[in-house]
This record gives sequence, C-alpha cells and structure tokens, in this order.
Amino acid sequence: MAVTIAIDGPAGSGKSSAAKGLSRRLGIDYVDTGAMYRAITWWMLNHEIDIDNPEHIAQNASKPRVTLSGDVDHPTVEVDGVDVTDAIRESHVSDAVSRVSAVADVRHRLVDLQREMVARAIRDGRGVVMEGRDIGTVVLPDATVKVFLTADVDVRAARRAAEDRQRQMASGESGDHHQAALRNLVGRDATDSTRAVSPLMKADDAIEIDATSMTLDDVIDAIVDLVPLNG
Ligand code: C5P
Repeated sequence: MAVTIAIDGPAGSGKSSAAKGLSRRLGIDYVDTGAMYRAITWWMLNHEIDIDNPEHIAQNASKPRVTLSGDVDHPTVEVDGVDVTDAIRESHVSDAVSRVSAVADVRHRLVDLQREMVARAIRDGRGVVMEGRDIGTVVLPDATVKVFLTADVDVRAARRAAEDRQRQMASGESGDHHQAALRNLVGRDATDSTRAVSPLMKADDAIEIDATSMTLDDVIDAIVDLVPLNG
C-alpha cells in the first residue's frame, strides 16, 4: 500500500521544506495545496473579482483551471496554461489568499482535485506527501501519517522574511520584511483558523511536532520515524 503523508500547520511553520525533504527521501510525490489556493487567488485578482465579496468569488470558483506538477525538483503551478509559480508568492496574493480560500465553492473544487491527484499517484503505485491546512482533517482523513507542524511565530516570521528578502532582492524591491511577514502570517492564521469551512486545525489523530528548535533534518527524521515499515 502506497504511503500517504498529511502535513498541516500554520503559515511558515516549515511544511513545504519538510514535505519536499520527505518527497526526496521517500521517493514519493509532493503536493503543495497552498500553491493551488494561491493560484486561484492570482486568477481572481487578475480578473478583477471582488475578493471581499464571497458570492462573487463563489460564482467564479470553477473558472480557473489549476495544474500542479508533482515533481519536487520543479514544482510548478499553472492557471489556464500560464506558469504562475513565482507570481503566486507576491505579497498581493499572500494578502488576499485567505479570503479566497474561506469560500466553500473554492474549497470543494480544490479538495476534489487534490483527492484526484492522490488517487492517480496511488493507482500508479506512488506515495504522496501533501501539505496544507485541512489535509489530515478533510482531504485525506485516512492518511498513513498525519503531522501538525508548528513553530514559534517569531521563528516563522523570520523564516518567511528571509525568503521574501531573497525574492525581492531579485526584483529590486525593498521594505521591512520581518514586520510585513509577521503581519501577514498572524492575519492569515487568524482567518484560516476561524473560517466556517474546514478551518486550520489539528486532526485528533495527528502527531504535533513543534519545530521551533529543530533543524529541518530533525523534522524530516521525526516524520520518517512515524511511517510504518510496511506502509
Ligand atoms: O501554504 P501557504 O501558506 O502557501 O497557503 C496559502 C493559503 O492557502 C493559506 O493561508 C490558506 O488560506 C490557504 N490554504 C488552505 N487550505 C490548504 C492550503 C492552503 O486554506 N489546504
């Protein structure tokens, strides 16, 4: 039976790095569900959908066609055939994504797509590590391993600020990255945790890992240890 690993947790807790590391170590597919919500958000912003109007978002939820590569070394995201891998990391998308992801029609659409990706991988004999906010609770309630990855908010903001600094250095932008990252993380966590449909929360049977003082390798080792030998 192919292994399925669900990793949930707040923004910036290191889910992506851990999931990519697990994908490489175990030779299984990598699925970043946050990238899918970001891609839909990018499309909504580009089509001038009023993202403060949930009904307007819902009416348009089925229009964008989102495709994700499961290749951990080249994780790309496309919307209607346009490569938006870099564009979805820009701050205007980060600031808007939680309002779009709170809309039930958006979630139903993406959850179906995510389950299809897992079903296809399993049919082809491959395992999957999927990261997000509702993977252990909603998308893959029967995942082989469920992890809820957390870290101190300042550590999370520092990590996100360093990534933003690197990205913006490349584009010539500047700004107070730490404060901006902190504001964005805290705001998103609040919206993601309090929404009515599949809020960010730990599944009852998930193992909580606090990565505040762990290295990335420690985190990956800890999760690998949870995978049953015959799983
Ligand atoms: O993982 P990342 O921080 O890129 O996710 C961006 C946003 O997408 C989250 O803040 C959340 O609003 C939404 N998301 C979600 N459910 C998931 C993954 C992400 O609602 N499974």
